[in-house]
Amino acid sequence: MSLTDDQLLRYARNILLNDVDITGQEKLLASHVLVVGIGGLGSPIVQYLAAAGIGTLTLADADTVEETNLQRQVIHSIETLGQPKVSSAQKWIRALNPDVKINALEYDVTLENAHALVGAADVVVIGTDNYSSRYLLNSVCCELKTPLVSAAAIGLSGQLTSFLFNSETSPCFACLYPEADDDEISCTTAGVLGPVVGTMGSLAALEVIKILLSFGQPLSQQLLTWDAKSLEFQKFNYAKSTQCSVCNPL
Ligand SMILES: [Zn+2]
Repeated sequence: MSLTDDQLLRYARNILLNDVDITGQEKLLASHVLVVGIGGLGSPIVQYLAAAGIGTLTLADADTVEETNLQRQVIHSIETLGQPKVSSAQKWIRALNPDVKINALEYDVTLENAHALVGAADVVVIGTDNYSSRYLLNSVCCELKTPLVSAAAIGLSGQLTSFLFNSETSPCFACLYPEADDDEISCTTAGVLGPVVGTMGSLAALEVIKILLSFGQPLSQQLLTWDAKSLEFQKFNYAKSTQCSVCNPL
């Protein structure tokens, strides 16, 4: 695949980077990313991946756009209130970049569809506040050796990590969080500022691009935490757990 004149212009600032170059841009255009959750984190994830020229984006989210979303979920608007979030995001992407092929799925990832959805993607990125989806995607990505980027934000803090399952030594989400459930605090009850999810979502999009193009050091075996009040970033190392039933072969 060679870039058109329009694409050379559109992606000029990507291509000027040694870590991207024309080869990297062609790779992005040939890439397929599955984005699960098109909310506060998913908005900047989708926006930056679409702008960067990821060739295929599969968006999965069963929710519709509500007024309380608009304070932070910047891909949605008054015009798309009441519409499925994936359709709303699809409209936004179409207005920005015709290079992106979009699969808009108005449903959640489930046991039944997870293998097909993950199997079609080069990288999966998750930004929902739903632990059951996180555990499900973790086990399927681990099984299919598909890299998974996991972003989270609550209140005035955020977390980010990546699981590079193509490496045998990669820990998984269950190594890091052996137990968690959906009753724990979420944005619905705890509140969150828009720029907080915006920051973590932007970093998640960056992780996806780094993983697709194999440059820099993705947060493999490292958990990045960010405190919005002090603006302090911290990194914590974690390792594969020998007790983990998800990522250890039987
Ligand atoms: Zn594990």
